[in-house]
Amino acid sequence: MNARLDEKLEPIFQDVLHRNPGETEYHQAVHEVLETLGPVLVKYSEFADKKIIQRICEPERQIIFRVPWQDDSGEIQINRAFRVEFNSALGPYKGGMRFHPSVYLGIIKFLGFEQIFKNALTGLPIGGGKGGSDFDPKGKSDDEVMRFCQSLMTELYRHIGEYTDVPAGDIGVGGREIGYLFGQYKRITNRYESGVLTGKGLGWGGSLARKEATGYGTVFFTHEMLKARGDSLDGKRVVVSGSGNVAIYAIAKAHELGAKVIACSDSAGIIVDEDGINVETLKRLKEVERRRIKAYLEYHPKAKYTEHGNIWTVPCDIALPCATQNELNGNDAKTLVENGCIAVAEGANMPTTPEGIQLFQDAGLMYGPGKAANAGGVATSGLEMQQNASRDSWTFDYTQKRLEEIMIEIHKSCYETSVEFGAEGDYVLGANTTGFIRVAKAMNAMGVI
Ligand code: GLU
Repeated sequence: MNARLDEKLEPIFQDVLHRNPGETEYHQAVHEVLETLGPVLVKYSEFADKKIIQRICEPERQIIFRVPWQDDSGEIQINRAFRVEFNSALGPYKGGMRFHPSVYLGIIKFLGFEQIFKNALTGLPIGGGKGGSDFDPKGKSDDEVMRFCQSLMTELYRHIGEYTDVPAGDIGVGGREIGYLFGQYKRITNRYESGVLTGKGLGWGGSLARKEATGYGTVFFTHEMLKARGDSLDGKRVVVSGSGNVAIYAIAKAHELGAKVIACSDSAGIIVDEDGINVETLKRLKEVERRRIKAYLEYHPKAKYTEHGNIWTVPCDIALPCATQNELNGNDAKTLVENGCIAVAEGANMPTTPEGIQLFQDAGLMYGPGKAANAGGVATSGLEMQQNASRDSWTFDYTQKRLEEIMIEIHKSCYETSVEFGAEGDYVLGANTTGFIRVAKAMNAMGVI
């Protein structure tokens, strides 16, 4: 963590380090927000007096529980699951569940912390939370995933609800997992409470365009950044890391808006296809067959696959990190800048390390942090909640239009805030400050709770 903190904020950060030992990703996420809040405390001294930042950094509630389940061979497996209910000043806790072997409390806390500000930026009435488990869905049968999800929900159901906490998907949690989780919630509670989870299937309370929303939203945001500088996506070379749900629909929308995405990746390697990544192939490999990206070559033999390659060495105009946290470090940022990259927007959560962010900002390229650039996913979850509350379902076009309007509004408010605080075009400051002020004002109005 490089940038220095304001003297009022340094002790707050030290306290976070002390109270949350070993949770390095959480420390990183807090530091990144605190770096930009100095001027906010000058303008709103009441936030300092009422210890709003200290309160935000302490989750309202943290739940850690055992998830025992039986694998297909009859052996008992034990996983650990989390739900961190971080902040409910603006609405019920809202945020995804991540199933990945790397999950521990520090990861869920970094994600939950970011979610507070991201959700505030959407302008919708949703608080911030996150959950997950160290369960690895890779290589598991559908039945094993079902038994795991049922066991997890058998504990989680008592903590969540339409007006309390509304989980959704994240890495390792898609439509299949949400189906099993919703089924078990419904069975245990004897309630068809659609609004308790988002990312549901289309025939049973899900929203059209939710699956596409995070990737689409990231590209809408990128387009807004370019427009603010009199440019557009037309003809741009784009590199997208990852090949999951966010990456696939970022690639699809980038192509639709006239750009050419020439590379994507998974944890085993990278694909470069100068003809443009074929989205239909990617969907088949990842959504239907659940295979590695290497198999792309079977359909497009002219493409190149590099095992453990570094995607950021592929020259591009625009980079969209859509894989996972800290996937783009200082060296990668340097390479991108040297190769003439003009814009970076984060489809993933905290994919750029602090060194990388600093380099982008020093180079003056457009940098859209995840809190703003990937807010389209949770925003459309908010739209799913609206549809559930009114027992209605909207068309794809209408929902996509709402998503686009929200992304335009997020860009606008981040940009205006950056201007207000004397740092025009600094979307990190814009996103953190805008989100923080909204949450802080609500907390302040509600007293010491
Ligand atoms: N996991 C997504 C995120 O990082 C979406 C959460 C949601 O839809 O609640 O924002």
